[in-house]
Amino acid sequence: MSTLAEKIQDVFNEPACGINQEKSEKARKKGCTKPLQPGGAAGGCAFDGAKIALQPITDVAHLVHGPIACEGHSWDNRNSGSSGSKLYRTSFTTDMGEQDVIFGGEKRLWRAIREIVEKYNPPAIFVYQTCVPAMTGDHIEVVCKKAAEKFGTPCIPVNVPGFVGAKTLGNKLAGEALLDYVIGTQEPEYTTPYDLNIIGEYNVAGELWQVKPLLDELGVRILACISGDSKYKEVASSHRAKAAMMVCSRAMINVARKMEERYGIPFFEGSFYGISDMSDSLRNIARLLVERGAPDDLIARTEAVIEREEKKAWAGIAAYRERLQGKKVLLITGGVKSWSVVAALQEGGMEIAGTSVKKSTAEDKERIKEIMGEDAHMIDDMKPRDMYKMLKDARADIMLSGGRSQFVALKAKMPWLDINQERHYAYAGYDGMVALVREIDKALSNPVWAQVRTPAPWDEVSWEERADKAIAEEAAALAANDVDAAPQDAVAVEAWTSRVCNCKEVDEAAIEEAIRAHKLLRVDDVRAHTKAGTGCGSCVPHIAAILQRINGVKVPAFEQTLVKEPGDDLSTIRAA
Ligand code: SF4
Repeated sequence: MSTLAEKIQDVFNEPACGINQEKSEKARKKGCTKPLQPGGAAGGCAFDGAKIALQPITDVAHLVHGPIACEGHSWDNRNSGSSGSKLYRTSFTTDMGEQDVIFGGEKRLWRAIREIVEKYNPPAIFVYQTCVPAMTGDHIEVVCKKAAEKFGTPCIPVNVPGFVGAKTLGNKLAGEALLDYVIGTQEPEYTTPYDLNIIGEYNVAGELWQVKPLLDELGVRILACISGDSKYKEVASSHRAKAAMMVCSRAMINVARKMEERYGIPFFEGSFYGISDMSDSLRNIARLLVERGAPDDLIARTEAVIEREEKKAWAGIAAYRERLQGKKVLLITGGVKSWSVVAALQEGGMEIAGTSVKKSTAEDKERIKEIMGEDAHMIDDMKPRDMYKMLKDARADIMLSGGRSQFVALKAKMPWLDINQERHYAYAGYDGMVALVREIDKALSNPVWAQVRTPAPWDEVSWEERADKAIAEEAAALAANDVDAAPQDAVAVEAWTSRVCNCKEVDEAAIEEAIRAHKLLRVDDVRAHTKAGTGCGSCVPHIAAILQRINGVKVPAFEQTLVKEPGDDLSTIRAA
């Protein structure tokens, strides 16, 4: 069994990853993601990535070994649908406390596994390692092995402490856990020449169900979807598929490539977003299955389905054309979505004011140019301030983005539509594109915008004008102060400007100033004075480190546990 460090090196060396292969030997060794400070990932850590990738396996228990905050960050953070068991949405955590940090948490983990087996009897338990037990040296592999032997339930160790890297690394390590402990451990009841694996599809908002009816019509059986709406047995017996589709190349390319290597299952990379991509994906599925022995009439049947569905989808989109003609869309997303929905929006008569390419590959950028021309407005990294200005100045009529940017649009009193992982509408396949255009139309035509844009009759000066004025005055005052107070050398300037709490936007300088001015000794006092650490709480260990540095006194471990509000009783909240 390889160590975690070897495993990470192995996934960094992924031969099927184009980005990785373009790198030098030295750059490849360094990897694609930086190790993070334990606890400092604010929900974007490797553990979080692994949980996202595996939680859609619906009938197993997902047990998080660590402090309760890790599970709090990651529970059900993708709206993945299930057609059967709901166990995957039940939150299980060992909720480690300071006693476990001192004496070790393995016994606690053992008891948690036993309790899950006794109460729920799932087909398997996935056990996730997090930062704290990884640092105190809990061996989840050993506990899982012994528990599986004792209770007769497979216990799958997913060794992904958050500090090893970012979400994408966690996706890949989750895939490694499936390859090491799950895939190939069971046999399907029967096989057919039409058995297909779909890898990297999470059934967000039920998107798999927009594609499945077409596959059903063609007689193609999804042997396993890894991992949307899947069951443990399906994943365990997925090694008998005839072909595979890799949906999002960044997430689980290692699973697709290694399954090809180990079990001879060929795969292609495709997308269900956008009409032409959906058609290409269906064609590739049919081609690969025929190459692996399916009757070749599948190709003609697939073409017939594509022709019918494309016609229906374009007609569905055209119905909105009159109302949407000339509307400008700002697209803040990433990867394939940065270009694959563009054709559908253009068909609906809309113009693309800009599309973000922060998380896009070189191929994604090329596709954007193909569809939108050389003058395509590609945005590398747009600050909320610039998004706001663009919307406020009516250079875009609607923003399509993830939930984090929604308040920018709402503040600018402009419509917004969620197209990222928390979305509640499904936008995959042909029906999905029509649904996307329909939702845009609904958002744009909502009469609420006319109302919120009308100034209140009793206000001579609107609250926005007052707020804008106050912000401008504050910014000017800060700029003036900064010039006087900011240190001059580069190292000190960096320290001065470094952000500790992203949620409440509190910098290290402000925390230091509060500690010195008020002679603060406790994390809770810093939180009360500065509001730092009162959001997601992931910066609490950082605040403790600053306290320790300034006061020269060690901050007790219990002080570093996430709490909700300054002054809340620590033990009460942990027990809740
Ligand atoms: S403590 Fe570690 S594993 Fe838990 S959420 Fe934070 S970075 Fe991720």
